[in-house]
Amino acid sequence: MTPLFDLPPHPQVPVVGMDATFPVRRIFCVGRNYAAHAAEMGHEVDREAPFYFTKTPSATVLTSATIPYPPGTSDYHHEMELVVAIGAPAFRIARDDAMSVVFGYACGLDMTRRDLQQEGKDKRRPWDLGKDFENSAVIAPITPAAGFAVGNQAIAMTVNGASRQTATLDELIWSIPEIISHLSGYYHLQPGDLIYTGTPAGVGAVVAGDHIHGTIAGLTPIDLTIGQPE
Ligand code: MN
Repeated sequence: MTPLFDLPPHPQVPVVGMDATFPVRRIFCVGRNYAAHAAEMGHEVDREAPFYFTKTPSATVLTSATIPYPPGTSDYHHEMELVVAIGAPAFRIARDDAMSVVFGYACGLDMTRRDLQQEGKDKRRPWDLGKDFENSAVIAPITPAAGFAVGNQAIAMTVNGASRQTATLDELIWSIPEIISHLSGYYHLQPGDLIYTGTPAGVGAVVAGDHIHGTIAGLTPIDLTIGQPE
């Protein structure tokens, strides 16, 4: 038996300082992980447990791309995020052990069709149309964990040079080990899994022609240009 057709290979993310790439297996995203962002969206932070949504690995886009303004939306938003790259298996891992499975960290953009996400919330439907769509998971090269420790680094992003989002990583409600430990209670985490850890306040719309520049101190910055709609 042979396949009827070939599928594209998994997306590969460059790794800083290594002649190797990180293949993307799955993409998990944490919701409402900065209090000021939860508030701007009209929500309380759920302090009992983090929650998640997912993106299809083929939604991955590397930094510096120009992507078309996506279909079906008139409120296309940026969300600047710290991304954690998983480098070892983890199932029901304890918080104290969770950092041992982190391969590294990257700047990411969780691009969002906010109007479709809001419609999903209003109608008590899934968020897929708002969150899991082509080119919606943007990522910069991954810095291995030996070269970065999450602390109070600045996380910021601009659109056409104007500041939109500014915060520090110590504002994360759920820490990296808390997220990994909790998520590993529901999935067998595997090398190649990415976790987008949530966005700070200041999310907003972008339009064709806009240029996004995002930074986390100590990591490779991320850039994205929004092209014309198809
Ligand atoms: Mn997000």
